[in-house]
Amino acid sequence: MTLEELDKYPGIESDMTENEDGQMQQVLFCKLCRKWKATGLNGSSTWGETPCTYQRKDKVKLHLKSQQHRDAITMAASEGSLDRLSKDADNHRTEGIAEMMKVMHWLVQHNIATSLFEPLIELIVKIDSAKIKKVRIAKNATHTSTSTANEFVDSMALLYWLDESFFQS
Ligand SMILES: [Zn+2]
Repeated sequence: MTLEELDKYPGIESDMTENEDGQMQQVLFCKLCRKWKATGLNGSSTWGETPCTYQRKDKVKLHLKSQQHRDAITMAASEGSLDRLSKDADNHRTEGIAEMMKVMHWLVQHNIATSLFEPLIELIVKIDSAKIKKVRIAKNATHTSTSTANEFVDSMALLYWLDESFFQS
């Protein structure tokens, strides 16, 4: 690919290596996948530690949409926001960040103000989702219909009146 073509993909850089026949050839790397040593589903390190030897736009586009590249983005994002955690916690951290991204995606999907991101994360940390799951697997009652929601609001008013501390825990 020409340097002009490569300009359209800022994260992709080219390099020259010697091939088996001793000739110099242009190869491509992905900066992010190289930095974060991201690998493909089959463990392939192409684009990261190993260069891509195909000079094709479709290969570049395919890579930018790949799970490998998304993993590298997640790792880069987690580094920026939670760098106080130790390096050996990397996997857990990546998983956690991915879950937090789901929360942000949900807010955006439902047109809910993203300023609620932090309180919502706090709520998720506070509640015991395993207990909610047990209610949700009941066949007839999932307890999330509008009428249940209204009942909950009524009960909450009553509970609040009876025991204000219920909501503080
Ligand atoms: Zn990549």
